[in-house]
Amino acid sequence: MAAIRGFGGFGGLEGCGRGLWWHGGRVKTVVHWFRRDLRVTDNTALHEADRTAERVVPVFCWDDAILRSPDVGGARVAFLLESLRSLESNLEAMGHRLVVRRGRPEEVLRALARESGASAVFANRDYEPYSRERDARVASALASEGVAFRSFKDSVVWEEREVLTGSGGAYTVFTPYSRAWRAKGIPAPRPRLSRARVAPDLALASEPLPRTSAELGHPRGHGLIAAGERAGMKALDEFLEGRVERYATGRDTPSDDGGTSRLSPHLRFGTVNVRTALERLARARAAAPEAGGQRGCDVWQTELIWREFYAQVLANHPHVATGSFRREYDALAWEGRDEWFDAWCAGATGYPVVDAAMRCLNATGWMHNRLRMVVAMFLTKDLLVSWQRGERYFMQRLVDGDLAANNGGWQWSAGTGTDAAPYFRIFNPVSQGEKFDPAGAFVRRWVPELAGVPDRFVHRPWDDPGRRATGKYPARIVDHGVQRERCLRMFKAVRGEGTVEARGAGSGE
Ligand SMILES: Cc1cc2nc3c(=O)[nH]c(=O)nc-3n(C[C@H](O)[C@H](O)[C@H](O)COP(=O)(O)OP(=O)(O)OC[C@H]3O[C@@H](n4cnc5c(N)ncnc54)[C@H](O)[C@@H]3O)c2cc1C
Repeated sequence: MAAIRGFGGFGGLEGCGRGLWWHGGRVKTVVHWFRRDLRVTDNTALHEADRTAERVVPVFCWDDAILRSPDVGGARVAFLLESLRSLESNLEAMGHRLVVRRGRPEEVLRALARESGASAVFANRDYEPYSRERDARVASALASEGVAFRSFKDSVVWEEREVLTGSGGAYTVFTPYSRAWRAKGIPAPRPRLSRARVAPDLALASEPLPRTSAELGHPRGHGLIAAGERAGMKALDEFLEGRVERYATGRDTPSDDGGTSRLSPHLRFGTVNVRTALERLARARAAAPEAGGQRGCDVWQTELIWREFYAQVLANHPHVATGSFRREYDALAWEGRDEWFDAWCAGATGYPVVDAAMRCLNATGWMHNRLRMVVAMFLTKDLLVSWQRGERYFMQRLVDGDLAANNGGWQWSAGTGTDAAPYFRIFNPVSQGEKFDPAGAFVRRWVPELAGVPDRFVHRPWDDPGRRATGKYPARIVDHGVQRERCLRMFKAVRGEGTVEARGAGSGE
């Protein structure tokens, strides 16, 4: 096995194999392996490959282990495919050619490095447990050929060991984490990939991109959010040109006019990078007319910090991927019935806001943040179904499904996570609906059975004396008040508590 030193680090490339001693001059060929960074602008590893090598060979590898995972679904595969199409044409416009292959990444990359004569494979780091293990396999397969593997920080501003408490530990509470995060400043975006210096090697085999996600085994594609780098930048600019100024007040309303940015799938697949988003946000804030507008910018930045917070929770505490952050809650005795879970998935619980949100998710691959919290709390605390079943269902359906953010959101809602809602805070699905969808516009759109129910009763049709919900709308499958008490008992049993604190219980926050 050829010795490689220094891969994974940030210094000059070292190693033997194909004459790889780079301390400022260019090596001949470097492969850039695209994963969650499907763009040519502000891409750390791609820029480093461009700076390091005469020729960059861009590759995307369909990994069957991912495509066949029970956590993957059509909305995300369709978004990925569309983003790859856009990436392919952006690369072509600059004289590069995207090589697409299918197989085990360690075999695909080893073969491609050999065929292209590459000295190294560059990639941006991915922090999920599967990705870490896969990258270790790839690095060792490449090392056996004398090819270096270098990974770079890119999808987050600060990695898991870069924002730490005074004693060097990882933060488990968001507010002090966000304070420490903000104190560090923000790195500038990286330069765009330059035009190819040499013509691409057409002899390198490449598969055409499939026409639809169905060809990849995922028929349920949705096109709600336009994919690709150009669409992502357009969405970012449109949001920052005005809507961000109303974000502090408008972000909790699930409406079609875009109270939030809908950038999550772009951040998930790297069609927009967080550095670019933050740089443009700083410009928007500087131009914002008054304190209200600036406040919107600040609140939006906080959401991007939540994204980083959950990324570092997953990286520092990988056990959250398979169990509760607070391990004692793995002993919770979830009493929920399978038919309740099925009704929740189908949007047939009899609670209008829950049903509307789930039907929206099923039809579009998307759900507003407030509604994610409502339905997650309803599943865990009203239906008493384990958060892990909901987490998986979300991963299968969401276009932005992301292990760290999804797991963080579910554990927050269930009360089992780091900075979680306390177990005794249980959203009331009726008052949540009345507060955030007061005229029932969102509910009526997704639950047409309630079209004729007056505003006053649209979130509690069982109280409507006119019984105007059409016959097909189900009766409530559980009683919120009864289930709330059962939930509190379930948590108390694990906590060994005799009485439940009253504060916040049953609140409709
Ligand atoms: C149960 C549950 C599951 C969730 N699953 C996911 C998921 O799989 N993928 C995902 O990206 N987000 C998830 N979230 C977080 C949040 O709901 C979405 O990021 C948000 O709705 C995306 O809409 P947006 O892009 O318009 O957000 P904006 O409000 O415009 O926020 C900007 C960006 O900040 C990030 N962000 C915002 N809120 C959060 C948050 N609470 N946690 C982490 N990042 C956040 C996202 O990247 C988002 O695009 C989940 C939340 C809950 C409660």
